[in-house]
Amino acid sequence: MKTVSTPPGETGLALTPDVPLCQTDLPLDWYQPEFKPYAEEFLALPDRSPQTVLGYLDKYVKPAQEHFGDALLLLAHYYMGGEIVKLVEHYGGSVADSYQLALQARAHPEKKVIVESAVHFMAESIALLAAEDQAVWITNPKAGCTMELLAKDHMVLPVADQLLERYGDDLLVIAYMNTSGRLKALAGRTGGAVCTSSNAPAVMEWALKRKRRVLFVPDEHLGRNTAHALGIDPERVVALPEPGRGAIRIEDAEGGLDALDRASVILWGSYCGVHTIFTPEMVEHWKANGWRVLIHPESRLEAVQAADGHGSTSYLWNALLEAKPGDKLAIGTEGHFVANARALGAQRGVEVRHLADVPGFAQAGCGCATMSRNDPPHLAGMLDLLRRGEAPDINRVLAGDVVDERTMRRDRLDAAERSELIGHARAAMERMIAVVESS
Ligand code: SF4
Repeated sequence: MKTVSTPPGETGLALTPDVPLCQTDLPLDWYQPEFKPYAEEFLALPDRSPQTVLGYLDKYVKPAQEHFGDALLLLAHYYMGGEIVKLVEHYGGSVADSYQLALQARAHPEKKVIVESAVHFMAESIALLAAEDQAVWITNPKAGCTMELLAKDHMVLPVADQLLERYGDDLLVIAYMNTSGRLKALAGRTGGAVCTSSNAPAVMEWALKRKRRVLFVPDEHLGRNTAHALGIDPERVVALPEPGRGAIRIEDAEGGLDALDRASVILWGSYCGVHTIFTPEMVEHWKANGWRVLIHPESRLEAVQAADGHGSTSYLWNALLEAKPGDKLAIGTEGHFVANARALGAQRGVEVRHLADVPGFAQAGCGCATMSRNDPPHLAGMLDLLRRGEAPDINRVLAGDVVDERTMRRDRLDAAERSELIGHARAAMERMIAVVESS
């Protein structure tokens, strides 16, 4: 199956006047002090109709747009909850998957103030490729990715050192886009590359032509699905112990050192809680009822194998755009994405359901909770604070930053360290781009 990542464009979603914006309000104490006034005003609104929410946002977004003019770029990821996707598009911003988001600063050198409503690694990926005069801001620094949280540099680097000591030049690292810049730099230092869910097979194939072994971080499932898609013997795909339970020793890999020595692909054991709920039984339920099942490859291998197709968020959205009236799609990915897909499908006569929306399963429609921490008050506050020159530094995203989402502490490299990191991380991203362009 060919998977593609398309440049950001119109999602086709419409703000329907009488349909309330789906937004779970965050508790007031979840906002940074600077953002609280915007949150208090939002929480006091009489309703969540587009007229009301846009009336609130217009007061802050429009002056910022006038102030920054063409230099301002608003971005959001497809998984954003609260219909931020529609709001960002309404104000002329772009919605994309993580690969296309990462390219936005480079693709638009005239954009100097880039405001992202998504998770931190996505903002940092934009910053990695940004020019010196382009500043990247995240509307809520507490928006981390749980998969990335289980692959912090302090967890992965000691294990990578053990593997490099054992296998030396035989090993390179592939860092999925859902990693910090520090891990992308690790990939770069080993001659490896970054990858996304759409280009992971091409990048892994490229890597295994160069080195005998790959350490794939952080998503065990995407790594396993990719190895499977390339026909790699499952015996030669070995997962490291689940992270987050203390220091990892490589001898604790499944099958021990013997299995590790035979492995072509070594998998870091992180995962996405949103995508690992899908089972082959869910897939069979929909197929048996005449639905076509499409699934994201961060899901478990058994579910991916049972589905009719698999691919990135762009692939899934494009499948919907290409569906014909009367088609029925069960989609296995993040819940807000599927809710938006369902709304667009309804406009086009295509039925869409969430793959986990099956009898007896309580978690149907699970969304990415951390992405949803970027809501209208965060967007309004970020833009207003930027216009007034009062934006908190914690919201500024520089390459190499590590944010503790609980304490809101940002660990920032000094200029020399950052420059070195950018060199290595960019090399890993450039290799991905070269692989994509040559395939
Ligand atoms: S859906 Fe999963 S992998 Fe994607 S950002 Fe959210 S937690 Fe991370």
